[in-house]
Amino acid sequence: MSNRVGSLIDKLVCENVKALVPYESARRLFAASENNQDAQQPVWLNANESPYANEYSVSSEFFNRYPDCQPSSVINAYAKFAGISNKQLLVSRGADEGIELLIRAFCTPGQDKILICPPTYGMYAISAETANVGIEKAPLNADFSLDIETIKSFKDQVNLVFICSPNNPTGTGVAPQQIEQVLNHFAGSALVVVDEAYIEFDASNSWANKLEQYDNLVILRTLSKAFALAGLRCGFTLANAQIIHTLLKVIAPYPMPEPVAQIAAQALSDKGLSTMQTQVSAIQKEKDLLKQSLIKMGDIQLVGDDKANFILFRTAQKQALMDYLVSHKMFIRDQSKQFNLQNCLRITVGSAEQNQQLLALISSFYQLQGNQS
Ligand SMILES: *Cc1c(COP(=O)(O)O)cnc(C)c1O
Repeated sequence: MSNRVGSLIDKLVCENVKALVPYESARRLFAASENNQDAQQPVWLNANESPYANEYSVSSEFFNRYPDCQPSSVINAYAKFAGISNKQLLVSRGADEGIELLIRAFCTPGQDKILICPPTYGMYAISAETANVGIEKAPLNADFSLDIETIKSFKDQVNLVFICSPNNPTGTGVAPQQIEQVLNHFAGSALVVVDEAYIEFDASNSWANKLEQYDNLVILRTLSKAFALAGLRCGFTLANAQIIHTLLKVIAPYPMPEPVAQIAAQALSDKGLSTMQTQVSAIQKEKDLLKQSLIKMGDIQLVGDDKANFILFRTAQKQALMDYLVSHKMFIRDQSKQFNLQNCLRITVGSAEQNQQLLALISSFYQLQGNQS
């Protein structure tokens, strides 16, 4: 039976899908270790989630109705927060869906390409591969700035240029002059997508107030990080009204479940925004403390910058350290397979308590190492 299904799938499956593997979310990577039942609670510092879980209320009053495609309660509140017009905004199932919609609307499968700048967020490439869209790469310079000359050499060869700022996983911001050069060079040629998933941790560097100035500028935002709502699946695409109109042609008719819209509207209320600001400040403080302690430990070298809610570091003992942390149910993210990030691990800033637990474990790891050598 399974052999028959297998050969049917082989016969039918799209050529570009054949080679893909299902997405390994940060949590799924460790699902097995979560199952065993000893008392120790796992600590998840591997997916750049917020340590805060805020409370919301949901009314079932309209659950019998199909929801609005673009609920105005959410659109109006986010447009106000971002300082743009509601015609320049699209809400979707996470920023990830924004990435997918951009690729589906602006890249013809089997023909067009996107440009990415590794090391960077993995979903640009994954979405392109899934859609049978090509990928060109202009790796970041050693200091993680954009390699402008290489990027420029792809003019008229790519339809979308993805720039992540602050960049995941390096935590670096891209200099405004660099983004400006890319926008100008690709004017009339490609859309430049600035992924601002972490912008609330580097608020003064948003490009949202430049939409009028550059008609090929697209910005991605999310409620998953600073707003502490990764479980909600709610993100935003900011661009001029005609780009938004084009994305609305390819989005599902009912992408925003009614409970999601209700919760997003609460998160974007005055009270929700002030909660977010307070929590961002607390995370920034914790990040500084974590950094100060980390640099004193073992052979740890900080890598990149701290413009988001995570810290990247390098250690020659990355595999032993990772194994040690996993055996204590402390989960951080291995980034060592990314371009130029050999031996690098990424820590999401957690609660004060979680960060202390992590530091204690790292410290005892290096003590054990020291005793052995
Ligand atoms: C987390 C993240 C996203 C995805 O956000 P969702 O809204 O949860 O889909 C997009 N870009 C970057 C750089 C991220 O780190």
